[in-house]
This record gives sequence, structure tokens and C-alpha cells, in this order.
Amino acid sequence: MTSKQPAYLVLNAGSSSLKFSAFRPRPSDGDLETLLSGQISGIGSIARFEAKAADRRPLGEHTWDDKDSACRDTLLQYVLNWINTTLVDDDIVAVGHRVVHGGLSLGQPMRVSPDLLDELDSLVPLAPLHQPHNVAPMRILARNFPDLAQVACFDTAFHSSQPPVARNYGLPQALTDAGVCSYGFHGLSYEYVTSHLLASRPDLAEGRVVICHLGNGSSLCAVKGGRSMDTSMGFSVLNGVPMGTRSGSIDPGVILYLMREKQMGLEELEDLLYRQSGLLGVSGISNDMKVLQESADPAAQKAVELFCFRVAKEVAAMAASMGGLDALVFTAGIGENSPEIRALIAERLDWLGVGVAPDANARKAYDISAADARVPVFVVPTNEEMMIARHTIQVLGHKPGHA
Ligand code: ADP
Repeated sequence: MTSKQPAYLVLNAGSSSLKFSAFRPRPSDGDLETLLSGQISGIGSIARFEAKAADRRPLGEHTWDDKDSACRDTLLQYVLNWINTTLVDDDIVAVGHRVVHGGLSLGQPMRVSPDLLDELDSLVPLAPLHQPHNVAPMRILARNFPDLAQVACFDTAFHSSQPPVARNYGLPQALTDAGVCSYGFHGLSYEYVTSHLLASRPDLAEGRVVICHLGNGSSLCAVKGGRSMDTSMGFSVLNGVPMGTRSGSIDPGVILYLMREKQMGLEELEDLLYRQSGLLGVSGISNDMKVLQESADPAAQKAVELFCFRVAKEVAAMAASMGGLDALVFTAGIGENSPEIRALIAERLDWLGVGVAPDANARKAYDISAADARVPVFVVPTNEEMMIARHTIQVLGHKPGHA
């Protein structure tokens, strides 16, 4: 009888989607290989399941009627059953979860327990649009599979190394002490990119690196010696550079003005800042950078220009937080896939010694630095799920090949 190999499931649950990936450690070196990935989209409307193998080959799809599309219990159970029947040689021994907020105290991934679930619930006010969805599958799994080990990995945790001065908003101290400060997000992406860069360029291990995570949600991080020193997102995911539909940083006086003069209430402001602003709001065309780049409409170009202007400005701010810049890294949907955006940002940073080589940039090489640039520039595809799988194995103390 052949025994099954231990495998790890990673879940990233959002308001209307449930993304999943499965990984298996290679017994030879312990490195993780991706077995499959997929998602259920349209939760709450018409839910649709899609999964693909590591080589992107489609493995399965399914659509629910509207009656079952809102039942997270049913949808999660479907994913688990499907994985168990698809991975005939593997056995899911633990689940790692992406959790947006770990507050000030959860600076490391943690094993899920009733106490941790209570603590995560207490953080809901800090991330009301994301945290409840992240936590829901943990409770479902704890109820249905009490023996299955679960680990929570926080998007805020990588930033726990930041000095207090980088987190302070200049509000009265009592508010700062109560947690009204900058937390930062995209931490699992920054951690993965940092580990990748340090493995391939150990000479940068003590260096000052700015990572630009440019996707639908975008932020930048100042990483010195492998540790987060500053970041552009803050108390919420609204801060920093303009994003697909989020404004990025604005003068807080604008909010007071909109409340007083335009009688805007909480929900209207939330909708404006989270869903109607950014690339979509400025262009009036789309939140999708690819669509804007392909459009000849001046409004689309205005949105692209604003994005590059603000990212370049934020790179300089991050460099100032570390006292210099030794490398620049692009990652996530826009950062990995748009040579034009990388070139436009680099052009604005010429004075800092940043430059990209047109050929290498166009073919998405790993090192896209111009020959004469003082600051090397890299493109690193992010893999937050892989980072979560690594943390899950580490937290549980599993050895490669021995769950
Ligand atoms: P999320 O924050 O939702 O994870 P992604 O990291 O997947 O988002 O990034 C999505 C963004 O990446 C979209 O704005 C999309 O237009 C952009 N993108 C993807 N491919 C390209 C491309 N080839 N050129 C320009 N933008 C692209």
C-alpha cells in the first residue's frame, strides 16, 4: 500500500470570492511545489468554481444556481471534496488562511484556536470589509473538521518591524495608543518578494529596497535588511497611491468638506473612496490598467499619468524613510505585466539613479536594470499563497515529507 503525501491547502476568502491553492513539499529539498489553484467567484450572486493545474491546464468548473450561491458552508465543502477526489496521491494535512488584519499584537502567523478566532473578531472594526470574510472559513473548518490544523497569516504582520515614527499619524497620543495608526498591508507579498530577492541577490540582504506592489490594490514598501521600515498603505487599504477604484491618500480636509458641504454620509463616502475613485474615477472609463493603456482617450492617459506620478513620488518617500535606495522591485498585476508603466515610473526616478533597459523590460526579465543605472531594478512575480503555505508548515513544525 502506498501512503499519501502530505499537502497543504491555502485559502484566501474575500467578500465575493474564495481563492484556493494546494502545495506539496518536495521530500528532497523541502521546497514547495504548486499542485493546483482556483477560485469560486460570484459568491452571493451566481457562484462559479474554476480550477487549474500548476501548468494552467483547466481541471474543473462548476456553476451554482442562485439558491446555493450564497452558502459559504456548501461552497467550501465543494472545494474540499473536489480537492480530495482530484489529488489522489495527496492528503491535505493543514490549511493556511490569508487574513487581512492582525492588529498590533499579531506580528507572526498563528495556529487557529478559539482564542485566536475571538481576537480576530475583535479586529473586525479595523477591516470591516475584509476581516469577517477571512475568518468565516476558519470557523466552518473548525466546526466540520476539528482535527484539521489551521494557520492564520496576516497581511499586516510583515510591517510589525516598522519603527513607531513610521506608524504615527500625528494624532493625539491617546488615539495612537488606541490603535489609530498605520498598519500596512500586502505584507505576505512583500515577504515573498523579499525572500526571493534575498535568495537570488544575497548582496542586497542588508540593502535598502523599495518594492512596488502594483495591482488592483497597490502599495509600496521600504525594506531594509529584509525588514519593513515604512509602507504607503496605512490604517486602511485606502492610503497611498491611487488604485483601481480607491482614491489613495487625500487631504483629510476633503472628507470634512464633503460631509459639511455635500451632506455625504458614511456609506456614500465609503462608496466614493473605495469604489468610485482611483483609475476608474479619474478616467471615467475603467479600473483596469490594461484597458486604460490601450485607450487613446485623454482621460485614460490622465489616469495613467497620475498613477505613475504618485508611484514615483512614493518610491522617493520610501527611499527617504530608509536613508537611500539600493534596489527597486516591481510586482503584482501591473508591476509584473506592464513594461510601459515600469518605464514611465523609472523615467521619473532617473534623478535617483533608477533606469531600466528597454529590451529586458519589454521581455519581463528578472533584472531589467539599465547598464548605467546606479539602482538595479527587478521584476519578481509575487506568490502570497506560497508564502502562506511556507508559514503554515513552519508554524506547525512539519518537516518536509513528514506531516
Ligand atoms: P489584485 O490586487 O486584485 O490581486 P492584480 O495583482 O491581479 O490585482 O492586478 C490587476 C491589475 O493588473 C489590473 O489593473 C490589470 O489591468 C493589470 N494588468 C494585468 N496585466 C496587465 C498588462 N499586460 N498590462 C497592463 N496592466 C495589466
